[in-house]
Amino acid sequence: MNLLVTGGAGFIGSNFVRFQRQNYPEDLVVNLDQLTYAGNMQNLADLRKDKQHIFVRGNIGNRELVAYLIEQYHIDAIVNFAAESHVDRSIKHPAIFYETNVKGTLALLSEAKRRHLKFLQISTDEVYGSLDQRGYFTEDSKLQPNSPYAASKASADLSVRAFYETYKVDVNITRSSNNYGPYQFPEKLIPLMVTHGLTGKQLPIYGDGENIRDWLYVEDNCRAIDLVLRKGKPGEIYNVGGHNERSNNAIVHAIIDQLDLSEDRIEYVKDRLGHDQRYALDSTKINRNLGWQPTTPFDTGLRNTVNWYTTHRTWWQPLLDKEKL
Ligand code: NAD
Repeated sequence: MNLLVTGGAGFIGSNFVRFQRQNYPEDLVVNLDQLTYAGNMQNLADLRKDKQHIFVRGNIGNRELVAYLIEQYHIDAIVNFAAESHVDRSIKHPAIFYETNVKGTLALLSEAKRRHLKFLQISTDEVYGSLDQRGYFTEDSKLQPNSPYAASKASADLSVRAFYETYKVDVNITRSSNNYGPYQFPEKLIPLMVTHGLTGKQLPIYGDGENIRDWLYVEDNCRAIDLVLRKGKPGEIYNVGGHNERSNNAIVHAIIDQLDLSEDRIEYVKDRLGHDQRYALDSTKINRNLGWQPTTPFDTGLRNTVNWYTTHRTWWQPLLDKEKL
């Protein structure tokens, strides 16, 4: 299979490209990424000499470029990771989120339609909005996005659905919970805490720290995405949850323990606007229909992740400095 993977220089995308190259040596991966602040060629350094991985710097909204790549490399399927992905940035500068996440996705969908390609959209549990203490979101839950980021992803999901219903494009959507693991940009919770922990900075926690997220190790998500790509039923949406609900406080304390830091390093800061209380996914469908379940225990995944950041300072220190994180 020849894949067009977009956003493959970002966190999940680069892990997915590596997963594809390791597991399907015959397949071709064309990796289209604009290299925004979040895209990083260092994430792909080990694939530099791999002839079955072709990196192209460009915007998913550039239809001519997308059409050219599809034709040139006989693409069979598009996997769309490319997005503006940080909620805090969407609160400050929403417009680019709609430009990339909505219009960019539409450009890719239009080319998938024209060339009769499979189209897999990588979405998020945030499209469902927030939960109280109990219950889980299923694929049939209402879309009630609260942040501009979540709203832009929900809009893209609706376009993907419309292209299936109207034009019968062979689409799927995966909606995963919070990913963590190597190569995550240090603005996100776990790498921010680890890198601040390692550089003597305070560890900032929003509000009272009791917001709950469901954490999924990135490799487990890559396996789920791959299964949906190869075996997903056209038109279907699949939730991909980690079954690891943790409060932000619990996450930060686990990191403090592993790095052997003092609790005094924690600093509670003004809460994020519209901060969702809890996300939790019911992943029964992907488990029953495709046999997927997460296999990385949270303690193991977090230990691997903290160790990775501890040994890859040359990867993250320039990012921390440049973005003043
Ligand atoms: P990321 O921010 O690390 O990477 C995004 C990548 O997209 C970057 O390499 C960036 O350069 C590229 N990009 C941005 N705009 C582009 C454009 N216009 N054209 C081409 N490339 C562009 O994001 P991530 O955390 O790896 O997330 C990947 C996808 O997974 C996103 O669609 C996100 O919504 C979704 N998702 C992420 C999580 C998570 O916890 N990280 C959870 C659920 C869903």
